[in-house]
Amino acid sequence: PPHIEEAKRARLAEVFGFDRFRPGQQEVVDSILAGVPTLAVMPTGAGKSLCYQLPALVKGGLSIVVSPLIALMDDQVNALKLQGVAAEAIHSGKSRDENVAIWRRVAAGEVRLLYLAPERLLTERMLAALSRFSLGLVAVDEAHCISQWGHSFRNEYLGLGRLRELFPGLPLVAMTATADKATRDDIVERLFGGQARVFVSGFDRPNIFIAVEDKKDPARQIESYVRARPGMAGIIYRISRKKVDETADRLSTAGIRALPYHAGMSAEARAANQETFLAEDGVVMVATVAFGMGIDKSDVRYVLHADAPGTLESYYQEIGRAGRDGQPAEALLLYSAGDIATRRRFLDEEPSPPERKMVEARRLDAMVGFCEAVTCRRAVLLGYFGERAKACGACDVCRDPPKVVDASADAQLVLRL
Ligand code: ADP
Ligand code: MG
Ligand code: ZN
Repeated sequence: PPHIEEAKRARLAEVFGFDRFRPGQQEVVDSILAGVPTLAVMPTGAGKSLCYQLPALVKGGLSIVVSPLIALMDDQVNALKLQGVAAEAIHSGKSRDENVAIWRRVAAGEVRLLYLAPERLLTERMLAALSRFSLGLVAVDEAHCISQWGHSFRNEYLGLGRLRELFPGLPLVAMTATADKATRDDIVERLFGGQARVFVSGFDRPNIFIAVEDKKDPARQIESYVRARPGMAGIIYRISRKKVDETADRLSTAGIRALPYHAGMSAEARAANQETFLAEDGVVMVATVAFGMGIDKSDVRYVLHADAPGTLESYYQEIGRAGRDGQPAEALLLYSAGDIATRRRFLDEEPSPPERKMVEARRLDAMVGFCEAVTCRRAVLLGYFGERAKACGACDVCRDPPKVVDASADAQLVLRL
């Protein structure tokens, strides 16, 4: 209806000060406002909070946001307060008196968004108290915490599946940045009882050229790749500490400013190398997966995977460290079937439950599918995350389609003649 459209736009501009939605936001907002159980999957920084905050404000009354960490709750509440939105959090980091005072404001109808940890929301007292309100919606942030496939499973999140029965007819929405299919399916199953509309958007990083090459002589391949990009900051990922040291040594011997980073080094040495990488121009960081979390360097020009990561999630996260400034950047992966076989062997030997192994094996299959793709590699990568994409023109396959395709095009030409 038009009045809802207007209310949405007005709120977006007035409250959030934004003149337009980011990719994917509007669809999610519409779905929530239409009362459809909604799971939104968008990368970190894409703007997931707005997707439930805006509908909550449009609906009015009190809405609940479930969040796993006090720090996350406080950040969002502070940001909302600055924008003039009546938001509060009740959590164990506050005194009893503070929490009581907040609850009084909630009870008086003065609060629009109330942030709670799942264990607090699910206490019988809180549920009884909330049942007296007509709630706008319940949003579950960081919803991957409900899945055992992720790294951040939280037992308390499991109980959130009860919300469907506790608040029938209430819009239930969930947000996560973790896009792999096993986790998504798990969220839909456990939180929504199998029924939800899933939106995936914002994962594409169009300025990163994506390529895969056969791994033949990695030491030489790495060196010539780096030499061809003088003065550029880059990250080279290797699977083991030993390989990190070997590669960093070889590049240094070749006169390239390359520094190692792995968990086998002292904390001081690691910190010093990271500092140099951030502060100086054109440093090459040779690292294991230990490197990169929370690193904010905008002008990394390339990420070279000299060994294939075990999952496309890690691959995507790692290449995402390139080109944050929006300028052209590159991601190259050196692929060898032998590396994958080694990973499979590790997986077999791991003492983890069979279901878990099966999920990991499927993730590895997806990695192979990506490496051996004969159609747009970016489309394969985004497709894995559930996001649809057209052929991108900025990957090796798009730039240089495989011979099979050429042959059929030739054949068509011949036939037309
Ligand atoms: P996420 O939870 O997806 O990691 P956030 O919700 O914290 O991301 O939002 C990240 C940043 O993007 C915030 O600073 C937010 O204000 C900003 N943002 C969100 N939506 C928009 C928009 N439509 N236009 C401009 N900035 C936006
Ligand atoms: Mg968030
Ligand atoms: Zn492509």
